Amino acid sequence: MNTAKIDLHLHLDGSLNIRWAYERSLLRNTIDKDMSFEDFYNILFAHNKHHSAENFKKFEIVCDVMQEYDDLFDSTYDLCRRLNDIGLIYAELRFASQQHCKRGLSQSDAIKAVIDGANKAMEDFDIRVGIINALMHKGDSALVNEKENLETILASEKFLGKGLVGLDLAGFENNCDYREYAPMFKLAKEKGIPFTLHAGEMGNGENILFALDMEPDRIGHGVDCIQDERYIQALLERNMPLEVCVSSNIKMTRNYAEHPIRYMMDRGLKVTVNTDNMIFSRSDLFNEHQQLKMIGVSDERLMQSTYDSLDAAFCDEETKKILKKKLDEEFR
Ligand SMILES: [Zn+2]
Repeated sequence: MNTAKIDLHLHLDGSLNIRWAYERSLLRNTIDKDMSFEDFYNILFAHNKHHSAENFKKFEIVCDVMQEYDDLFDSTYDLCRRLNDIGLIYAELRFASQQHCKRGLSQSDAIKAVIDGANKAMEDFDIRVGIINALMHKGDSALVNEKENLETILASEKFLGKGLVGLDLAGFENNCDYREYAPMFKLAKEKGIPFTLHAGEMGNGENILFALDMEPDRIGHGVDCIQDERYIQALLERNMPLEVCVSSNIKMTRNYAEHPIRYMMDRGLKVTVNTDNMIFSRSDLFNEHQQLKMIGVSDERLMQSTYDSLDAAFCDEETKKILKKKLDEEFR
């Protein structure tokens, strides 16, 4: 049985322990003091479409409870502990430092808090963790928060190799023209920071081509590549790792068989298996693997995707060696 797993695409704010988030929200006065736990739970678990602009409000609720050093530290530590419990040997946790500056933290403070939480977890548990910091696309133009995104890159550079492993671009994908972010990621490249981009998740496969023009190291999701053979060929030519998150894509239908992951694997795309958001996707990596087995993905194919995850990971070579040894002990 495959137990050792690697998650490369996991959002901290979408993967909180809900009870912790509720209690901390009351403590920080970020929700109405009369709100019951059941109401809070229902808001985060409501049966609505994941990719509507309205649904992104969920992220505000969970971000509001992580505006202080202790909150970022504690939530990161707790997430690492839970990931260790379900057999992950390595995870890249992503968050957006610019979303955590409402109560006085700088972006650097926020990054440090998350890295400190991850470091403490790595002391206490047998899991390795890398942090990805996300640029945000928020409005109908990259100019809306250009200053904050630039600061995200500059603050991240200071922590590169010290817990931070890469950058991302996240938000409501169809808000604006992806190509507007090209100068940002040119800068990231100049600074030697690896990056992945959310692209081809929300119905616009052409964003995959725009993202590839920025020469990323990986693509977040990329499932809309099935819309056009050109997109598939562009990914194959580059052997581009895709961070596929099945439960997140199919949302409440829970129809795993209708997801294109098996087709993508059959076409030879470099598919890695990930969770996205443990709360909003109502899943974890253990469940993702279980569900894929149910639709006929073999243990061998899942093992290959785990090795592909290791290959595509942003951690240093020394960490990769340690992780490879663990995988080999289990699988070979
Ligand atoms: Zn994501």
